Amino acid sequence: MGEVTETVTETPRVRTLVLDVPGWTGHRAGQHVDVRLTAEDGYQAERSYSLASAPGEPPALTVERLDDGELSPYLVDEVVRGDRFELRGPIGGYFVWDHDGSTEPLFLVAGGSGVVPLMAMLRHRRAVGSTVPAKLLYSSRSLDDVIYRDELDRLGAEVVQTLTREQPPGWGGYGRRVDVDMLREVSYPPDESPRVFVCGPTNFVEAVAEGLVALGHRPGRIRTERFGGT
Ligand SMILES: Cc1cc2nc3c(=O)[nH]c(=O)nc-3n(C[C@H](O)[C@H](O)[C@H](O)COP(=O)(O)OP(=O)(O)OC[C@H]3O[C@@H](n4cnc5c(N)ncnc54)[C@H](O)[C@@H]3O)c2cc1C
Repeated sequence: MGEVTETVTETPRVRTLVLDVPGWTGHRAGQHVDVRLTAEDGYQAERSYSLASAPGEPPALTVERLDDGELSPYLVDEVVRGDRFELRGPIGGYFVWDHDGSTEPLFLVAGGSGVVPLMAMLRHRRAVGSTVPAKLLYSSRSLDDVIYRDELDRLGAEVVQTLTREQPPGWGGYGRRVDVDMLREVSYPPDESPRVFVCGPTNFVEAVAEGLVALGHRPGRIRTERFGGT
């Protein structure tokens, strides 16, 4: 069981829930939990949510509302401090980045709420004072949809953003979907052996992974997490 101790509105569609989970033994950056909600009539639904916080910090989930979704509108709009729900985890040992002394650069590519587990990695890197070069390429629809907008400047990592639908006047970032040319311009060259993590909607992740392989990145260096959707 997790109890919501704090809620943070990140964007009009996205909210962070900070949790107190008795017996929580900690997590690794990139892991997720399975949240199970039970309705009064006993109906149960379960979804996965990445842990947004750095290891050592209280578990926090950042959830984006899908208007036609079953669970996310409840988690974003209804849950209040003190509410409790079942959760299982932390889960996952593949899509994780540990501060383990290696020096390979970290290249992170996020689509929408796919930034959540990558944020845990960047928060972890900052918290342990890692000097591993790190770059985040982050795709959002518009500036209002950028999650963790203020914190992105304070991560001590290079952050490159693209806004796919709407760019404010004077926008200095990219204004299109992530494509091979963008990946070539932004990613570390393959001969620097970057560790690559890609997360977001399924079609985003597949397009980015294919693009990186086309640029010469070894598939074994590219770790992906698909949040669903098409
Ligand atoms: C390992 C893992 C980690 C995840 N971490 C997060 C996270 O940190 N934050 C977060 O907000 N979500 C995360 N997700 C997605 C989450 O599990 C749910 O799928 C999402 O919240 C939708 O649930 P729902 O019940 O609201 O929608 P549903 O009722 O399940 O689906 C509604 C509709 O939306 C489509 N859909 C489902 N997921 C997506 C998506 N991601 N993008 C676009 N369309 C979608 C479905 O195909 C369906 O048509 C993660 C998924 C996985 C597998």
